[in-house]
Amino acid sequence: MGRSILQKIKPRSTFDLFSLIYALVLIHAEVLFGEFMVLPWLIKKHNIGLFKICCLQVYGAFLYFNVIGNMWKIMITNTSTVGKVLPTLLKPGWYYCTICESNSPPRAFHCSTCNKCILKRDHHCMFTGKCIGYFNHRHYLMLVVYTWLGAMFSIVMSSEFCWEMLGGFSFTNLLKFILPIFAFILGQLDLYTAIVAFLTLLATIFFALLTGLIIYHSKHVRYGIVTYERSHNIYLFDLGFKNNFRSVFGDKWYLAMIFPFFHTTLPGDGIEFQTKDTFERAKDLKILKSNQRIKVVILLFRETKVCRHYSTSEREFPRICCNLFLPSLELLTRSLIQDQIISGSSFTSEHLYYKTILSGQCYTSDFQR
Ligand SMILES: [Zn+2]
Ligand SMILES: [Zn+2]
Repeated sequence: MGRSILQKIKPRSTFDLFSLIYALVLIHAEVLFGEFMVLPWLIKKHNIGLFKICCLQVYGAFLYFNVIGNMWKIMITNTSTVGKVLPTLLKPGWYYCTICESNSPPRAFHCSTCNKCILKRDHHCMFTGKCIGYFNHRHYLMLVVYTWLGAMFSIVMSSEFCWEMLGGFSFTNLLKFILPIFAFILGQLDLYTAIVAFLTLLATIFFALLTGLIIYHSKHVRYGIVTYERSHNIYLFDLGFKNNFRSVFGDKWYLAMIFPFFHTTLPGDGIEFQTKDTFERAKDLKILKSNQRIKVVILLFRETKVCRHYSTSEREFPRICCNLFLPSLELLTRSLIQDQIISGSSFTSEHLYYKTILSGQCYTSDFQR
């Protein structure tokens, strides 16, 4: 058990391992710096009361918990095609990965570092040594946001302390702040002040870098894209902000954003994706009210013209509705068989025709080719 977790979190390359160690050392150095150097100085200088100290501690702990928790979740979440049931026949939009020797779904890309095909792959994150894909995208974004907030918190808390240590703001002291190691080597700063300046400088640099990263990645959430699609101008899966957002953060997005260990259900399986076109068709059904009882009538035509009617409750409806509007007949048939709505042994997609009757209105779709 312990060994398998270790296998899961182990970075795949030496570069990733050093990046991870660097990130962890830096995060903990900033935490210890704030806790044991900055805070005692601030309490003494501004005579901070117990309530304010508690608030600062709780906020700091909240940020730390989210940074480490999201890092952990990125590392242990399987977002690859390993363990997924993949078809043996190559379907439209799919491709054959010669390295994995299996069919890979659309939006999945092979990562040479992880040596796996990653579902809806965004990029390989060196600080966690893992790829960011469909199932851990939310954790990556929250890691970036909380590290950014942590850097901001560190700057706000330590600036006054840092500049007082340096002897006030001046051009010479600004140079010492930007180059604290050189200033220490040249004897311009003592070791203690050099460490203070160095850690404040690092927080500032990371704050600037992470600001850029947040702006960069917010476009991915906004338009439902990944890095590859962005560089190739592919906006095929853009279902509007609300749906794109939920496809990353899931149904309980408000909890997913404050607690990395909270389970939130993503709308898909990371293998099949609705495109803009199929989604637009499905939107016609949005007129439904949640308390309406929905009757889905599925007519199966074979030589015998067998006709079956199925009723479903509104709880089951979204999945069936989603399945009905999947672009291909094969998928639709497979979904219906999986949901045990039809017994599939002798049934082929060529025979399928269905009608959906909803609150007196009739939507008919003919999927026959
Ligand atoms: Zn592969
Ligand atoms: Zn990777």
